[in-house]
Amino acid sequence: MRETEDAVPSEKKRFYSLEQVAELLGVNYQLIYKLVRAGELPAARIGKVYRVVRSDLDRYIEQSKGHAAGGVCSVCGNRYQSRLSLKHECVDCGGPICVDCWSRKKARRCPAHGRGGAAGTKMGNS
Ligand SMILES: [Zn+2]
Ligand SMILES: [Zn+2]
Repeated sequence: MRETEDAVPSEKKRFYSLEQVAELLGVNYQLIYKLVRAGELPAARIGKVYRVVRSDLDRYIEQSKGHAAGGVCSVCGNRYQSRLSLKHECVDCGGPICVDCWSRKKARRCPAHGRGGAAGTKMGNS
């Protein structure tokens, strides 16, 4: 994180334009725009422009830290760059389970919990 934003006096601003958000995060405008349109990043729409509230941006950054970090599947031990690949979790502890283990191996629990319980039971796929 850079602290030097000459063009954007961050202490004074409560709202950011999407351009400013992009600049602050060091990403391109299109990405921010997509996030807003997808509802991932909360933004107020004023006329034709979007304004992002600072606290919303802060929260979004906090949340995305976990996502960006990726993680390790607790079943197969593979490392994944994106949390998207680990969107399932152990029904007991919430440990991440990769899409592969979940759908192909039908893993619903991490090894620690699968051993004691019935790992192979088919819980209703709702
Ligand atoms: Zn796995
Ligand atoms: Zn578990």
